[in-house]
Amino acid sequence: AKESGRGRCAEFDPAMDARAREHARLAADLSVAVERGEIHLRYQPIVALPSGDLAGLEALIRWNHPVRGPVSPAEFIPVAEKTGLIVGLGAWVLRESCRQAAAWIDRYGDRAPGKMSVNVSARQLIEPDFPATVEAALRESGLPAERLTVEITETAVFGGGPALEAVQAMRALGVRVALDDFGTGHSSLGLLRTCPVDVLKVDKSFVDGVPHSVEQEAIVTSVNEIGTAMRLQVIAEGVETATQAERLHVLGYRYAQGFHFDRPLTAQECEERVAGSPVP
Ligand code: C2E
Ligand code: CA
Ligand code: CA
Ligand code: CA
Repeated sequence: AKESGRGRCAEFDPAMDARAREHARLAADLSVAVERGEIHLRYQPIVALPSGDLAGLEALIRWNHPVRGPVSPAEFIPVAEKTGLIVGLGAWVLRESCRQAAAWIDRYGDRAPGKMSVNVSARQLIEPDFPATVEAALRESGLPAERLTVEITETAVFGGGPALEAVQAMRALGVRVALDDFGTGHSSLGLLRTCPVDVLKVDKSFVDGVPHSVEQEAIVTSVNEIGTAMRLQVIAEGVETATQAERLHVLGYRYAQGFHFDRPLTAQECEERVAGSPVP
């Protein structure tokens, strides 16, 4: 009765209607955003502890809307997922990030950021073409498969099925798989048994508790120990202070990412960071 009550309300709720229209407008604009050159990528460094040396980059999508200005991925990615636009958008992100990584390897050789991580939505992962899309991005760019990591969330692979098969296909290609926002799902440890991955990205909500919460520190420490024992790369996400970075190192962490080290950078800023000085 409660369900139908809510449903009945929704039909006549003007606020709901406004939200639906806003959603539809955003979707319509998003559907032409790539071809209009409004979409680009930023790259946030993943660094080694305690040196701060570049260990990889995570590609993060940006949309510069002609009227609204920058729209946050937190706002438009859910719209893209709901409408299915994420499939085409995600394919563009894969091609562009592989192209950029390969270009940097050509240009900087051993000094190039070695690894590129790309976020992949559940909706993309279950597309039958997904492995072929990844393969094409690698082939067209010439990027070696082991340089690419796909970041997926625990909930995407929780149910097994096509998403889990896609993970297996990635690993068969030699592409690495990272579990993003690790610890926030319903069965984080269970998943480590059933889903073969290479990287754990420990969610910011746990890292936030370092160093003042005994409980959060215990979780952060345990995840690193389990991951390391399984020979996975463990990365602490959302590190914002020097105190956190130092403490994570003491707790055994070898990799981190966050505003303390770098914000998401433009391609040009990445090049400056690699070169150690501004590129002329
Ligand atoms: P995520 O994959 O968990 O990415 C981390 C987010 O946290 C990024 O936000 C990043 O800018 C932000 N961040 C990094 N370090 C810090 C820190 O120290 N403090 C704080 N407060 N934030 C930090 P962003 O770029 O707005 O992306 C938000 C989410 O949108 C991502 O979360 C990811 O789920 C999704 N997303 C971004 N790009 C893509 C994409 O190309 N494809 C897909 N499917 N999803 C994407
Ligand atoms: Ca991510
Ligand atoms: Ca994350
Ligand atoms: Ca997240």
